[in-house]
Amino acid sequence: MTDLQTINVRTATREEMIDITAQVRSAIKRSGVSDGICCVYTPHTTAGITIQENSDPDVKADMVGQLARMIPKNAPFRHDEGNSDAHIKSSVIGATATLIVDDGKALLGTWQAVFFCEFDGPRERRVLVKVVSG
Ligand code: ZN
Repeated sequence: MTDLQTINVRTATREEMIDITAQVRSAIKRSGVSDGICCVYTPHTTAGITIQENSDPDVKADMVGQLARMIPKNAPFRHDEGNSDAHIKSSVIGATATLIVDDGKALLGTWQAVFFCEFDGPRERRVLVKVVSG
């Protein structure tokens, strides 16, 4: 079993998507696993992990923008921290991504990247990576 690894992410705005593919690839390399599964997980209730296009930055903008239209910050929520929209966006996106590791590399498509999704920043965030051989 390989060690649990941590990727630290510093977000700069309330809502944004940050490409963490390079850090995930490094974690896979450090694990020494050549064939298996890589779980990328963030232990936060107002953030998420997703796999999405990294070529056109408008895709990120559209993702964040459409989530904001679907789940407006100022809707009449009960939770009194003022960040209910962020909690809901976190659950819609999800806290994990699972990658297949083959011959030491993550099997991502040409245009795919792993993104950390911030919904209540700016903050210091953590992403945990576990690579399992098999
Ligand atoms: Zn809250």
